[in-house]
Amino acid sequence: MSRRIGIDVGGTKCLGVLLDDDGTILAEERRPTPKETDELVARLCELYGALGPADSLGVGVPGLVTRQGMLRAAPHITKVADLPLRDLLAERLGHDASIDNDATCALLAESTVGNAQGARDAVLVTLGTGIGGGVLAGGVIQRGSNGFVGEMGHMVVDPEGPDCPCGRRGCWERFASGSALAHFGRVAAEEGTLPTAVALAGGDPSQVTGEHVTAAARAGDEAALAILDGFGRWVGIGLVNLTNLLDPELFILGGGLVELRDLIVEPIRHWLGQLLYAPSFRPHPRLEIARLGQRAGAVGAAMLPGSVRS
Ligand SMILES: [Zn+2]
Repeated sequence: MSRRIGIDVGGTKCLGVLLDDDGTILAEERRPTPKETDELVARLCELYGALGPADSLGVGVPGLVTRQGMLRAAPHITKVADLPLRDLLAERLGHDASIDNDATCALLAESTVGNAQGARDAVLVTLGTGIGGGVLAGGVIQRGSNGFVGEMGHMVVDPEGPDCPCGRRGCWERFASGSALAHFGRVAAEEGTLPTAVALAGGDPSQVTGEHVTAAARAGDEAALAILDGFGRWVGIGLVNLTNLLDPELFILGGGLVELRDLIVEPIRHWLGQLLYAPSFRPHPRLEIARLGQRAGAVGAAMLPGSVRS
């Protein structure tokens, strides 16, 4: 029996899992994500050691990962750029390692043991600090000419919009990620239209987070529900653009926000149906939550060695 380790490098924490051949999680460990390049390699080796021994290692990273295992840029992990991650890990561990984009890893897991099993054309979208994505087309996970497929969070939806960590303006993730939801909540709180969430934040509008907005919405607060509806519309706008481009049968939503389940998914489903191009003349793409939840990236990273991609 082979034992595989997968590590998902997130904006704030790294999650490592040890898998057996069936994809069953035997153990998991978490560590904070470091901000410095050399610390990242050391942290990954530390997690590997804590979970090991194992026969292989795969790592998912939120950024541009080349086919050669080079991490070119990762806007949510500051100071990491042009890092030959695969080679550095192989050197430290004494055997090969596989590296890919974190959302592509999540798609690999969902299409192997999750909710995209049997699908030929599916798009996975992670709603977290930013937005990540993976594309399954014709039954094959797509990688593009460089390995950069799926950077849908940085599709520009408003050229005059807010600054993005990628250095440009008005990217989709500025309107449809977890940080965007928190931003919409703070703006409404400061305008005085979100008293329930402000009370939950201890009375200070500048301290309102996405969690305060969703807690108020769960309690039935109309203003908070309106924020979630507006947020769902922004997510829907992006999903409709992706539908026009890729014609998927299925969207899988992953990332931290989908832990909120119906509270977040129902407004998105509503707006996807409302905004779809030629809705009477096409089957509407299904919308499902990642079955593996927040572990999808780590499980898929463990499945990277030997996987088929194009
Ligand atoms: Zn951007």
